[in-house]
Amino acid sequence: MTALRTGAATDVGRVRTNNEDQMLVADTLFAVADGMGGHAAGEVASQAAVEVIQEAFAATPTADGLIAATQKANRDIYARADTDPALRGMGTTLTAAALIDNGNGESLVVVNVGDSRAYLLRDGELSRVTEDHSVSEELVRSGQMSEEEAATDNRRHVLTRVLGMDNDVSVDRFDLDPFRGDRLLLATDGLTNEVADSEIASVLRRIEDPGEAARELVRRAKAAGGSDNITVVIVDVLDDDGRVAEATEALAREPVRPRGLPTSAQRDARLRDLDGETPPVAAIGNPEVFEAPRRRRLVRISLFGLAVVLLVAAAVGVVVFTQRNSYYVGVKSGTVALYQGRPGGLLGFDPKVVRSTDIQVADLEGATRDRVTQGVTFGSRSRAEDYIEQLPTTTTTSTTTTAAPAPTTTVKQP
Ligand code: MG
Repeated sequence: MTALRTGAATDVGRVRTNNEDQMLVADTLFAVADGMGGHAAGEVASQAAVEVIQEAFAATPTADGLIAATQKANRDIYARADTDPALRGMGTTLTAAALIDNGNGESLVVVNVGDSRAYLLRDGELSRVTEDHSVSEELVRSGQMSEEEAATDNRRHVLTRVLGMDNDVSVDRFDLDPFRGDRLLLATDGLTNEVADSEIASVLRRIEDPGEAARELVRRAKAAGGSDNITVVIVDVLDDDGRVAEATEALAREPVRPRGLPTSAQRDARLRDLDGETPPVAAIGNPEVFEAPRRRRLVRISLFGLAVVLLVAAAVGVVVFTQRNSYYVGVKSGTVALYQGRPGGLLGFDPKVVRSTDIQVADLEGATRDRVTQGVTFGSRSRAEDYIEQLPTTTTTSTTTTAAPAPTTTVKQP
């Protein structure tokens, strides 16, 4: 069973001398009505409206019954205005809400004729439930006027539909699922013409007690001018028969997944593809979330590898170039030799002998012998050849030393 708590307030305002508004707060039926017509006829119309719907709805407490009750109120008011010259031209708005069991749960059914309004505050957000039946609002709905223009248009007070204008009336109906914490507001234009929706929302959010909130809204409408009668009915949904819990559970059954992430089934399928012997055909050109970054990473790795290869190739080129253009005079098997390359090699490139000589290293003069043993380097082959030609040896032949002249006489100084 849905539990409700209500509060209401009505006030003549600061300009009018009588209050033509009416309100109804019964067990499960709530309404506001804004009467119009000269010589207190407006009061008669609004009072008739709430009395008739209360009685008729009690006889048939269904959504259809509520609409039928509203149409009955319309016919009654129209008939009285037609027969009583003092009441000619009277009419009234009517905005009513009823808690109705529709067979598979309860709903709040709102009906409306005229420019009184129903609002719903849910989760702190205020939204308007009803549409005004005024010339300017009809123009907005048909796209012929902007909401900004309608707010100041004179025809916003000219109603296109009221109870008592004709024998038939079209009644708007809105069905709401009552959730715990919902707050329904019914109000005549004496409130909504004076207090902005944002300020109404702020009061409804801040003041918990519905009676206090209703009185605060009336006080603010009067403070803003109070040029019309003001009537406010507030209906709070205290308990919703577990409806919030049910809705929460239904939401919980639908797992929330950030958009773009693969489902577990998609992920398993991908893993099976990757495990298989054949390449995952399904994955080719498939922009799955985890596929794209992997490809980019492979491209990055390839670029890095290419850079390394190029650097190594350049280094090898430098080494080869250096080897080709370097010569040194060194020792091979005890004799002087001309090498291409660097003494001891460079980065694994061994020097190679390009010319052997018969000059015995042992025959070389002391300091020269030491230098040649370590290797004397040159930037060109010809300069290395020149060096060899001028090597000072202690003897011209290494094999016949006994008959040789004294070493000092034969030594050629470089
Ligand atoms: Mg009014």
